[in-house]
Amino acid sequence: MPFISLGLSPALAQAASAQGFATPTPIQAQAIPAVLGGADLLAAAQTGSGKTAAFALPLLQRLQGGTAYTPRRVRALVLVPTRELAAQVGEVLRALAQRLPHPPKVAVVFGGVSINPQMMGLRGGADVVVATPGRLLDLVEHNALRLSSVRMLVLDEADRLLDLGFAEELQRVLAQLPAARQNLFFSATFPPGVQALAEGLLHAPTRVSV
Ligand code: AMP
Repeated sequence: MPFISLGLSPALAQAASAQGFATPTPIQAQAIPAVLGGADLLAAAQTGSGKTAAFALPLLQRLQGGTAYTPRRVRALVLVPTRELAAQVGEVLRALAQRLPHPPKVAVVFGGVSINPQMMGLRGGADVVVATPGRLLDLVEHNALRLSSVRMLVLDEADRLLDLGFAEELQRVLAQLPAARQNLFFSATFPPGVQALAEGLLHAPTRVSV
């Protein structure tokens, strides 16, 4: 089954094959049509399943849709537990977006390094932000970015976000997001804390498990 039959645009199906993705992985086959349809998503998926493209492809397509938005306002926010994952997810988004008709600007921010270059990088805005929660809050407090236009939220590796102690920061970020948004939730494991987080966040989610 080719990517295009999942409802992806020719440009994004092409972007997937340019990355060497011949056919969708099981999580991509299940998640992409649901996310394109606007549903919230609850995905049980391990690293290596192709989970990053499972959210990156439909996220990019939904950002391309319509013209009734202001470019360079953050419309999609991807929260991740570590700087390595932030860099990796940012690279995937940029690689898939590079040949789109209106390539979104993807900003990647994480803690443990100087904040100033990241503040400079956010000048002029961004369409997609990939972030670790603590640094994201620092940047909001410095007025380097606003979250009031976010329409899509992705929590990637939600179990690790909680394991690394980000629960409080996460709640502070969530409190700043508009209520009308699509939520995509990825976790490898579902202990009670992760389940509670998902239940509080998701509305009638499509459930996928691989
Ligand atoms: P992830 O689970 O997102 O960390 O992805 C694991 C690896 O699978 C990455 O190296 C991806 O480039 C690769 N990958 C993702 N989707 C596909 C696909 N449809 N076909 C082949 N490789 C893929």
